[in-house]
Amino acid sequence: MRILVVEDDALVADAMLRGLTQSGFAVDRVDRAERAEAAMQREAFDLLLVDLGLPGMDGFEFVRRVRRAGHAVPVLVVTARDGLADRVNALDIGGDDYLVKPFAMPELAARCRALIRRSKAEGNPQVVVGGLHLDLPRREARVGDEPLDLTPREWAVLECLALHAGQVVRKERLQQAVSSWNDDITTNAVEVYVSRLRGKLGEAVSIRTARGLGYRLDEN
Ligand code: CA
Repeated sequence: MRILVVEDDALVADAMLRGLTQSGFAVDRVDRAERAEAAMQREAFDLLLVDLGLPGMDGFEFVRRVRRAGHAVPVLVVTARDGLADRVNALDIGGDDYLVKPFAMPELAARCRALIRRSKAEGNPQVVVGGLHLDLPRREARVGDEPLDLTPREWAVLECLALHAGQVVRKERLQQAVSSWNDDITTNAVEVYVSRLRGKLGEAVSIRTARGLGYRLDEN
């Protein structure tokens, strides 16, 4: 799951980056809303963490523009301001939740998980492809009754493939799902995760290679 942190305070941003990375998220950071908009045009994120007080365009204006552009990505507003008006405002302009600094890292990670879960699981939190069963809220996968032991990155690749079962998912998309800008993850690494997944999945489903494009998860 990939998070974009929009925060100009380097200390706070570093702490978020560390804490969320430890919790298994791929995290990217920008210090201005303008850079966040540019990043969102290039890549897909599963959650935005937005500070309200930013140089240039402030967090309120940024979130308003994100919604006006039609992005449904969940937004968690993080800010030092604790006035009631700001909290109400943040939700009114399209924020999904609100966290006041200083906060405890486990709470931040839990709120991020909850928001992403809610957005992914709208409708159906379970994905079944052939003999493979994914419980998205719990991030658990099993084949028949056998639970699969997956690393966070293997899970991310499998989740992305399963949510698009029967369709080719580009290698670059899978790479984005597992890595942040600072990670040196190549599309070759995606091949490694896919190969490990094939070993773990056995005969339950097939991950087929679409040469030069990506991969497709199919029922057997
Ligand atoms: Ca700030």
